[in-house]
Amino acid sequence: MARKRILTGDRPTGPLHLGHYAGSLQNRVSLQDEYDTFIIIADIQALSTNFDRPEKLQVDVRDVALDNIASGLDPERMSIFVQSMVPQIAELTVLFSMFTTVNRLRHNPTIKSEAKQYGFEDNMTYGFLGYPVSQAADILFCRADLVPVGEDQLPHIEMTRFVARRFNELYDEVFPEPEPMVSRVSRLMGLDGNAKMSKSLGNCIYLSDPPDVVEEKVSQAVTDPARIHKDDPGHPEVCTIFNYHAAFSEDEIENIKEMCRRGTIGCVACKKNLAKRLNELLEPIRQKRRELEKAGSIDDILVEGNRRAVEEGERTMELVRDAMGIDYWDME
Ligand code: ATP
Ligand code: MG
Repeated sequence: MARKRILTGDRPTGPLHLGHYAGSLQNRVSLQDEYDTFIIIADIQALSTNFDRPEKLQVDVRDVALDNIASGLDPERMSIFVQSMVPQIAELTVLFSMFTTVNRLRHNPTIKSEAKQYGFEDNMTYGFLGYPVSQAADILFCRADLVPVGEDQLPHIEMTRFVARRFNELYDEVFPEPEPMVSRVSRLMGLDGNAKMSKSLGNCIYLSDPPDVVEEKVSQAVTDPARIHKDDPGHPEVCTIFNYHAAFSEDEIENIKEMCRRGTIGCVACKKNLAKRLNELLEPIRQKRRELEKAGSIDDILVEGNRRAVEEGERTMELVRDAMGIDYWDME
């Protein structure tokens, strides 16, 4: 029986951070053998907020590719590719936009909160409002079954399921309704105490940050504001550092929670412990990244990933054209 398929990925708006690692990368790596895996670098989606800075993509696309592979995705076992180089995704976006209403897009909670974040509320581009349709095409071009994502992506997976269902009802059974897979840590907080660590908010610990930068960032992170003295009882549930311990120090978490609540561990010691943990986690990733950069093979990996993606996209487009009856003559 054919393996089920995963499609997931990132916007190339900067290097990847610990939120990506906890929210999606770990699952991608552990599932790459069980599932036929496609990883998308969504450069067109990055343009939905960065259309005035396309020159950044040259660096960001390669950074995102390097971070994925350095984290343990193996180019021999999965395909990583760039969205704009798969024309079938653009074709599907146009077809899907015919039966997706503007009202449905306007009510998408992630669109609403991101529009606020970027100041787009009163003046939104067609591309930004419609990016969930384009994301549905990202997922459906290879007829994926499973999408490992952070919590913020759930409304978009819901939209993708709607698009698949509607297409199948209108024309013919072509697409599976993909399931989201949310990891244990569905949303990692930002260093500034924001609910989400996000490239665009600049509140991140990057996977490629050197050890001293990790230490510095952790030492500056926002903790429980009610805790002034070292032995004041803490509130781990509101603390950024505790949020990171919960993600990356699972074996010690009950202990840390207790010590914080009783005021027997100070924030400085708790931060030192976290920085050490994070550096242990990140060291092999940094090392692998250096090796990859030295080998200069990242473009070859993307070219091969794109070749496989286009092949799959063409297969899907044949089914789509056939289902809709828009195959007017033989294209051979
Ligand atoms: P941007 O701010 O440019 O949108 P981002 O940091 O939100 O960047 P994306 O490329 O949009 O990153 O997200 C890629 C994947 O990583 C998505 O599945 C998303 O849910 C997940 N992810 C991103 N940030 C976090 C986070 N802080 N916690 C958990 N998952 C996250
Ligand atoms: Mg995002």
